[in-house]
Amino acid sequence: LPNAFKEAQQVLQIIEEHGYEAYFVGGSVRDTILKLPLHDVDIATSAYPAEIKQIFVHTVDTGIEHGTVTVLHHGQSFEITTFRTESGYQDYRRPDQVTFVRSLKEDLMRRDFTVNALAMRENGEVIDLFGGISDLQQHIIRAVGNPSERFHEDALRMMRAVRFGSQLDFTIEAQTMAAIKSNSPLLEKIAVERIHVEFVKMLLGIAPLRGLAQMLQTDLLCYVPVLNHHLKQLAVVSELPLARQLENETEVWSWLAVSLDWSVAQIRTTLQAWKSSKQLIADVASVTAASQSLLTDQMTDWQLYQTGATNLQTAAQLLVVLGKPDYSQELARRYETLPIHNKHELAINGKQLMQAGIKPGPQLGQILNQLEQQVVAGAIENEPQQLLDHAQSMK
Ligand code: ATP
Ligand code: MG
Repeated sequence: LPNAFKEAQQVLQIIEEHGYEAYFVGGSVRDTILKLPLHDVDIATSAYPAEIKQIFVHTVDTGIEHGTVTVLHHGQSFEITTFRTESGYQDYRRPDQVTFVRSLKEDLMRRDFTVNALAMRENGEVIDLFGGISDLQQHIIRAVGNPSERFHEDALRMMRAVRFGSQLDFTIEAQTMAAIKSNSPLLEKIAVERIHVEFVKMLLGIAPLRGLAQMLQTDLLCYVPVLNHHLKQLAVVSELPLARQLENETEVWSWLAVSLDWSVAQIRTTLQAWKSSKQLIADVASVTAASQSLLTDQMTDWQLYQTGATNLQTAAQLLVVLGKPDYSQELARRYETLPIHNKHELAINGKQLMQAGIKPGPQLGQILNQLEQQVVAGAIENEPQQLLDHAQSMK
């Protein structure tokens, strides 16, 4: 067993010594069999949350209404979830009712795909009630039970099918795929943040462009906010030779791929609507702006400086993928010759300006910014006295 399980093994043993069942479940079992690195080890048990809390001294009620208790054991924490069934799903998203049960089978039945419905005993023995091992061997994503019913219960599962298909480089089984197509409008019921999580995992997987193509084929993409306004372009993207760039790459690349013909303003609005991080938005916008300036020959030294070495190279790579000339060497050369590469290299700082009599406050910031721009543009030398004289004249 991988190291990640070693500590947890003891926790499972302790639960069993108290007369309950306990198993590793979900992604960690799947990834162990596939010999992939593990991130989180989920534990499922027949013990009810109150019973888990009696067994272990240190516990935290992380999601007790769903049956999850975090157990602290030998300085590590483990999420332990009681076997449960779900019912209701009147809103195509969340079950109206969660019922704790003692049967492993019922817990595995509510899981999304056969490869995610495996359980493993503490000794490594795998329990496979839905053909998950065979599907793992044949690289197939298949819904547990009737796919259409399962997507009616929770429409996000359709996105998850495409996501796991890309992450694992697996094929989606025909009936599961057909059920995605016939139920795709249900995706509208799902909050964009949850779609976002699955979409980005899909893009960062091994086969993102096939994932994108599947989202087009099944019409899922028609029900994803904002992206549904760009179906034609996304169809083009899904055929681009982007695979190598997207491989091992960051979220920046994946967003560049989907935002090829967007304006910088559109990118900002979309990524904000999708609740992306400020850093990601800044990077994607800066790379896009840079590639657009390069194509129109409008890249100023100031933009060069602000874009920074990494984003400049990404912009150059992006243009190559789009069949445009390769600007990488030219950009590297131009960037090298910039007088400074960040504001700490400016030969004067705020403190020195204040000592020279400039008042602290917003104006000081503006002056520093002006000096930075002038130095980058080559209008003044990066030399303390010249900078000071210039600052005085701006007061
Ligand atoms: P990852 O490597 O991305 O964490 P994972 O398989 O662990 O993959 P999670 O989203 O962490 O995926 O979910 C853990 C497990 O819970 C899944 O393997 C699956 O058994 C079950 N599960 C999660 N989400 C759903 C869902 N929407 N419907 C049914 N079962 C689900
Ligand atoms: Mg997980």
